Amino acid sequence: MTPTFITETKPEDWTYVSEGGATIVFSYRGLHNVQFSDHVLRLRKVAYGSSDNTLLDANSEQPDDPMIAFQENIISKLVPSEFLPSLMVVVLEEDWLRSLVVLRDGDRPAERRQTDQIDVRRNKGILATDLIGGTPIAMEIKPKWGFLPTECHLSPKTVALKTATCRFCMHTSFRMKHGEVGTTYCPLDLFSCDETRVRKALGALWAGWYESDGSLNNLRFFVQGRMTKPDDDHSVQLLAHFFTADESTDVQNLQESFTSALAQALLSSPVLPILSTLQRTLDILDVEGLSKLYTQTSSGFSCDGLGSSVPDPSMEEWEDFVEVYQSDHHSWDHTVPSPGHLRHYLMAYLLSATFKDCSIIIRPKSAQVGSFDVTIIDMDIKSMDRLGKWEKLDKKIVEHYKSSGNQRRCIDNQRISQSGCTQLSKWR
Ligand SMILES: [Zn+2]
Repeated sequence: MTPTFITETKPEDWTYVSEGGATIVFSYRGLHNVQFSDHVLRLRKVAYGSSDNTLLDANSEQPDDPMIAFQENIISKLVPSEFLPSLMVVVLEEDWLRSLVVLRDGDRPAERRQTDQIDVRRNKGILATDLIGGTPIAMEIKPKWGFLPTECHLSPKTVALKTATCRFCMHTSFRMKHGEVGTTYCPLDLFSCDETRVRKALGALWAGWYESDGSLNNLRFFVQGRMTKPDDDHSVQLLAHFFTADESTDVQNLQESFTSALAQALLSSPVLPILSTLQRTLDILDVEGLSKLYTQTSSGFSCDGLGSSVPDPSMEEWEDFVEVYQSDHHSWDHTVPSPGHLRHYLMAYLLSATFKDCSIIIRPKSAQVGSFDVTIIDMDIKSMDRLGKWEKLDKKIVEHYKSSGNQRRCIDNQRISQSGCTQLSKWR
């Protein structure tokens, strides 16, 4: 296949859309072009002062962004392709990227600009379906963890908390203690498939968006291809035009109309049940169980934390992993995980993290008013060196929540109790 070159477009043709921790997204606004129209450009970022600065040589051949092969070979076996954007490689050029930085860096949030920038040494990026342009509005939801862990591998210290309050709600409490904006959103409501609870979750997402002036990343609105904030009157008017019959910009009214429309969109889509099932079956041991299995199996090597001595899987290993996950994995006795399956469980946890961290884009189908397409985006490969950090964070979050005295009850209505589990913990 002939490669696509970014230099066939001008940096001025691309407008800033949004960014996450690792990547930044621009949308094509230039003259009609078969390859670029209706596409976004996804570029990797690099932190200032990061050692990554020295890893890449812009003049040498670099591998394709691994996200493309990961989606093509791994994710597409787990998620039907109709819910995935198309991704392809685009060849970059350093001077072109530098011009883009000069033109568009000012459109980025100030706090992001202080910490990182486009990695101009990369010579390959991703061209993806533009899900937020070409439509009057689009919404992005980051649903996060949609399940409560099974009690099997939890310690006596954490079991009561972790099986009552979901990870996201505990994390929110932890963040608020550190001065961040809070939210009453609980993912288990969004994932519940119960209309009342889905509406409650959407109401909380809206309130979080409104009260934080759009700074929380669990809900984002895009109006005419641009991310919008609640204080942007013109965009809010366009939202009202889309959602409400009387075009009322009354906040209460708009929240209500948004909640009704999105609840219907989500309840009629299989996307959330797909994500929740993948998250819970891949994270079957909880990070505590994974850590125990790791310590048991690699005694003497584990002092640097979970996964510290484990190399990242190759794409071939990921392919083998998916085969096992789709066959044997479901018949294994996860209450007594086999040390021989350690690497499988570590990879499963990484993949679960991909699905805990992804976003969904909800956009109206062009032809039918009131009906929506739901697409899953941002499915990046997680690396083994994150496991140790996640294990520590898990401890901190739970300890904080315990000491806070809060006891939010989050209901996971798809939870399957593992038989034999209670007895097992008694014997330990
Ligand atoms: Zn919760």
